[in-house]
Amino acid sequence: MPKRHDTLICISEERRARAGDASVETMPQYDLHTHTVHSDGTLSPSELVRRAHSGGVAVLALTDHDITSGIDEARLAAQVAGIVLVPGVEISVSWAEQTLHVVGLGIDPHTPSLQAGLAEHLEFRDWRAVEIGRRLERRGVPDACAGARALARGVLVSRTHFAQYLVASGHASDQRAAFSKYLSRGKPGYVPGQWASLPQALEWIHAAGGQAVLAHPARYKLSATKLQQLLAEFRDAGGEAIEVVSGSHSRDDCLRFAMLAGHFGFLASCGSDYHGPEMPWIDLGRLPPLPETCRPVWAGWPADRLPYPPL
Ligand code: AMP
Ligand code: MN
Ligand code: MN
Ligand code: MN
Repeated sequence: MPKRHDTLICISEERRARAGDASVETMPQYDLHTHTVHSDGTLSPSELVRRAHSGGVAVLALTDHDITSGIDEARLAAQVAGIVLVPGVEISVSWAEQTLHVVGLGIDPHTPSLQAGLAEHLEFRDWRAVEIGRRLERRGVPDACAGARALARGVLVSRTHFAQYLVASGHASDQRAAFSKYLSRGKPGYVPGQWASLPQALEWIHAAGGQAVLAHPARYKLSATKLQQLLAEFRDAGGEAIEVVSGSHSRDDCLRFAMLAGHFGFLASCGSDYHGPEMPWIDLGRLPPLPETCRPVWAGWPADRLPYPPL
């Protein structure tokens, strides 16, 4: 993972350095995939917005996992900082016995059907936390559920909180090791997801007036056939865009998905998937630009004013 980020950072710096290209410096930077403490990030919404502003991000989407409770604070902070806040969410989806993530951009978080769907996800997360705790207990890790809940500060419990607890209690050397030893698919603490189907998640996003973006498509490690199947199903269900530039994409991934976006007629999005300064993802404001062949997901957004003015 760090190697991939190095590649991305290099592209970005290379491009900035090249030719003293003023258009690169003045082009508004979009980061359309980020997290806060409302899900499994470590910054508050205000801290995230301030850091994005310092990093040069002009348009920021907050896309916490399965929850929208950070948006109001982020909106206010964005108004103070003078950047655009795009209200978003990253919805967990069960597809072909694995979990995918679909980002909703420009959603109205007060939409009843979206909130009803997300409430089911929170309920599943609560049940899953107990179940992960039981499974870890059998492997000699006591009190993991209570430990993860405490780290989640009583809000949404994520596997990241379990990873943090496993590290804090000396059962893993770092979060990556906690995932590969205990929490990833097939490992002792893994509980299969029972999330929304792809069409369901897209319905919630569209009901809320948002655009649906397939998150970090390279991360699912799909065969070429499965990937074609996923992209076709996503398109047929009304998906608008895929992440081409992502904090977890290498330069090759980025070029490959730019091509696939063109082939399937998807708009292209870019997002760091930032979780906080301690987390191993790319920092805010460091993303390379979208390849020039891409039509950006923001192409239809009003250019002359804030697309999503703070309320
Ligand atoms: P959950 O939605 O609760 O199942 O947790 C998924 C989150 O765990 C992802 O959004 C990542 O932030 C984190 N995650 C998943 N796999 C890894 C990994 N191998 N190393 C570090 N974090 C991971
Ligand atoms: Mn996460
Ligand atoms: Mn994700
Ligand atoms: Mn994410």
